[in-house]
Amino acid sequence: MTNTRKAPIELGKAEFQAIGHQLVDAIANFLDAIEEQPVTTGEAPKQLQALLPPALLPENGASATEVLAKATNLVLNHSLLNGHPKFLGYITSSAAPLGALADLLAAAVNANVGAQILSPIATEIEKQTIRWLAEFIGVSPTYGGILVSGGNMANFTAFVAARTAKAPGNTKEDGLGNASSQLIVYCSKMTHTWVEKAAVLFGLGSKAIRWIPTDAAYKMDHQILEQTIQDDLQKGHTPIMVIGTAGDVSTGVVDDLQALAAICKTYTLWFHIDGAYGAPAAVLPELKTLFAGMEEADSIALDPHKWLYSPLEAGCTLVKNENYLRDTFSSHPVYYNFDSTEEDAVHNYYEYGLQNSRGFRALKVWVALQHVGRSGYVEMIRQDIELANYLFSLAEKHPELQAITHNLSIVTLQYVPKSITRDSENNKLYINDLNKELLNRLQVGGEAFLSNAVVNDRYCLRGCVVNFRTSKKDIEEIIEIIVREGRELHKSFRNSLNMSA
Ligand SMILES: *Cc1c(COP(=O)(O)O)cnc(C)c1O
Repeated sequence: MTNTRKAPIELGKAEFQAIGHQLVDAIANFLDAIEEQPVTTGEAPKQLQALLPPALLPENGASATEVLAKATNLVLNHSLLNGHPKFLGYITSSAAPLGALADLLAAAVNANVGAQILSPIATEIEKQTIRWLAEFIGVSPTYGGILVSGGNMANFTAFVAARTAKAPGNTKEDGLGNASSQLIVYCSKMTHTWVEKAAVLFGLGSKAIRWIPTDAAYKMDHQILEQTIQDDLQKGHTPIMVIGTAGDVSTGVVDDLQALAAICKTYTLWFHIDGAYGAPAAVLPELKTLFAGMEEADSIALDPHKWLYSPLEAGCTLVKNENYLRDTFSSHPVYYNFDSTEEDAVHNYYEYGLQNSRGFRALKVWVALQHVGRSGYVEMIRQDIELANYLFSLAEKHPELQAITHNLSIVTLQYVPKSITRDSENNKLYINDLNKELLNRLQVGGEAFLSNAVVNDRYCLRGCVVNFRTSKKDIEEIIEIIVREGRELHKSFRNSLNMSA
């Protein structure tokens, strides 16, 4: 080896600049004309595999310029574009372009935000981001927390903290083996699938979940909740937490959080809110009553990569008393920092969550909050909701569409052919099949992208507007696309029925 080293992975300054500028130019062109591309190319895995380099791992390297140019071409031209104005699928937002640049910056410095000494400024930026997110959704900025990869992880992080706080005895030392009675958690039957994973992963078992029925408005029925808690207590079980949902993943419903908070107080249970999708809408003054009670939560999950338009991945766990995270995830008792004041206490994020080494996800969230400010978010979130409302009202007016639900920015609807009445049981099945197939068509067609929800046994098309690029015109065109494809499909279904008859 010579005294100086030039590793094969290193890029010289001029080369970095040249490749970097090319990449930024390509991305700028891509974003500028994103609505002219199909939402998806609908290519099959086999077709995509044929585009990749030869199957064997390369023995020798190649030019960085070429490798990145090919990767750019591949990724920009063969991806599903959730930044497309007609993408209303699942709950995946258009990503803030500034977030992409922030991720580049974060990766370049490569701060490890597990320990403060490894990430001095990044740790401070994450702490400020957490405080801002709490302020944003209208809870006390004294909430602490941590950024994680997404909603599932944010809910898991809170779930374990709740278990540590509320399980009898010392689960950290004794585990759950010593728990003499079954720990129980309560949530509405609309709750996202994460709760089953959490019950399995964190030792309660899926039978520990009480799926509480919903009322006519799809909110958790809090009378049944209270009755169920009382029944469990009588049986000698140990209720530990109630999980409220602020914007359920299928239909966007927000539970009666105030009522749930009151029940948690009465029975000294941990109150967790899954606001992965909906919590940011609490920033709208007109929705203050809808989200009332959120400020009582012991923990809240929210996803900046959903309605704050952060690029993936960014989830966040907020906890009213940050020490519960510390107690759960650190082996150092909190009094280690007894002597230091709050402001200059060392804050090692590995002690607040499941990860050890951690990337600098806060940066993209933090720059976006400054770029658009609260007022910018109020405007975007309000318009997303207005567009969902518009989609719903167009479906209501259309003779071949049935509008089913609208909450926050989620709409569910069905295509119903003119000649078919919705009420008969037979037709219901046919309409379900038709809409299922219609969704499959739309999802590979590339014109617009929706997902599905099942509401009262009705298979629905579901649109979720967390997309700052969507306009009224897009919504009108999406309606036309749905109806056109629905008609064609109904025709071909009918023809094949006639033929087989
Ligand atoms: C999206 C979502 C989740 C899961 O979040 P990920 O970021 O996909 O892990 C959990 N709960 C609700 C209500 C959601 O909308």
